[in-house]
Amino acid sequence: MILPREKSLTSAQLAEVEGILAEYGCTVTVISGTTRTIYAISGDERDEEMVGRIEGLDYVERFDRIQAPYRLMHHASDLSSHKVRLGDAVLGDGFHVIAGQCTIDPMNPQYFLETAHAVKEAGAVAIRGGVWKPRTSPNAYQGDDKALQILLRAREETGLPVSTEVMEDRHLQVVMDAGVDVIQIGTRNALNYGLLKQVGRGTAGTRTVVLLKRGMHMGPVDEFLCAAEYIAAGGNPNVVLCPRGTKPELDGYRNFPDESISPLLKARTWAPVVVDPSHSVGKAAFVPFASLAAAAYGADGLNVEAHVCGSKGIGDDPKQAITPAILARLIRDCKEIHGRSAGYRLPVQKA
Ligand code: PEP
Ligand code: MN
Repeated sequence: MILPREKSLTSAQLAEVEGILAEYGCTVTVISGTTRTIYAISGDERDEEMVGRIEGLDYVERFDRIQAPYRLMHHASDLSSHKVRLGDAVLGDGFHVIAGQCTIDPMNPQYFLETAHAVKEAGAVAIRGGVWKPRTSPNAYQGDDKALQILLRAREETGLPVSTEVMEDRHLQVVMDAGVDVIQIGTRNALNYGLLKQVGRGTAGTRTVVLLKRGMHMGPVDEFLCAAEYIAAGGNPNVVLCPRGTKPELDGYRNFPDESISPLLKARTWAPVVVDPSHSVGKAAFVPFASLAAAAYGADGLNVEAHVCGSKGIGDDPKQAITPAILARLIRDCKEIHGRSAGYRLPVQKA
């Protein structure tokens, strides 16, 4: 990672750096952080001669070599002061909630629009809604491009940022053209390195936030952070980590709840952690408890399924969606618990 003396390198300086790196088989990706632009190196950056030549350039402040499998996501990275913004909210500053339907039903757009207004009223800072769905059965509803228009209408009516999942390059192009604020990468694609790279590159230099779910079969914390590194290394540091439960499931729950991973993640990375309690426990009746636990564990927020009339919903909504009334109570209580538990989180033990 190269840190320039000024806020960023000039194009002539960048060209000189690229020329040196190329001699050693390395390339550079420009990453615009909130405070400074940094230059991430891909390739084996251990060559002492190369490092010496770069450090010898008078416009370079430092050449950082973090000895971790992830460098940009590392808590000591030059990106550590980077802030991920979601509309008016700064993730990592307080407790923020993304809420909305699992799936937008294009045959019943009024539900999604009502839900969008209701979750805004309840205190959510962004609205989620699935346009395309990764379904276990190919015979289940797969999503519909028409649902994107409903998502955009919800944004227009509420003024809140919107979030949806992409599963392939075409989805990425469509949501980037539409200016969708948050791109979700689902649990099934958390290890799809090709897609992670495409999303990183496709959103580089924009304000688009990428919410990365934890893979349902992921074990070590570092595996999750390395997946996030692919997105940052593609050029987009606006990454949010989303634990959502893993397999094997705890009998009776949909997955094994993993909100408890939040402090471990926060010890290793600067990135915000937003827990998904809905897919973790998989039943609306249990979602509040997983949410309160996430707040106590110091997560920065929730990504939660809510619906004005869950029984009329599709996808996960009939089982998992909480009502806007519960959401409103939950947001208030989570904020309080998050604030109270902050006292136990100091000093932060960096790993
Ligand atoms: C979802 O958010 O609706 C979803 C499919 O999530 P996950 O990838 O975590 O299952
Ligand atoms: Mn869902």
